[in-house]
Amino acid sequence: MNEREARERLVAAARRMRDLGLNPGRSGNASLRFGAGFLVTPTGLAYERMEPEDIVLVEAASGAARGRRAPSSEWRLHRDIYARRPEAGGVAHTHSPHATTLACLRRPIPPFHYEVAFAGGSDIRCSGYATFGTQALSDGALAALEGRRACLLANHGAVAIGTTVEEAVELAERVESLARLYWQALQVGEPVLLDEVEMDRVVEKFRTYGK
Ligand SMILES: [Zn+2]
Repeated sequence: MNEREARERLVAAARRMRDLGLNPGRSGNASLRFGAGFLVTPTGLAYERMEPEDIVLVEAASGAARGRRAPSSEWRLHRDIYARRPEAGGVAHTHSPHATTLACLRRPIPPFHYEVAFAGGSDIRCSGYATFGTQALSDGALAALEGRRACLLANHGAVAIGTTVEEAVELAERVESLARLYWQALQVGEPVLLDEVEMDRVVEKFRTYGK
């Protein structure tokens, strides 16, 4: 994949997040691992106006950004995920409505449905709160992502990791869907949770699912 193709893929993934309703307004951002760093969506640019030339290349080691725009304010989060998670090829950060609702309640998503295991374990954790764009936000997110591919960010949104950026967006969509279902179930009563033995079984089945 050359840089032009990578930029086009990232713009397509970012637009897909917007089309899925995962990123109201100009919120959220996405990236994919590239060369000695990563390509990331720019800060404060409407998704419908985003072109491949607007994508910013960030060097992992120095954090130096190259492009006609400034990188997303959450570029540290993306950098740290690529540094700490060698399997990550793409990252999607959303402010999707239901995931963000739970994040504002600082409520993790428990094993109320077996598909919670798509995020890699028996729950989807919620990080502690930190100001957007800070190293503290990144540190909190990395802790909540331990052994997981997705987490909620307190009073903020959610983040999902994939082997590709398309996979990250797909997982972000699934997290939003699970958050909506969990929230709906809470309107009626207390959802029945699956136990650790069952969730371990599902995590294991998902390891080979679709492969
Ligand atoms: Zn955000």
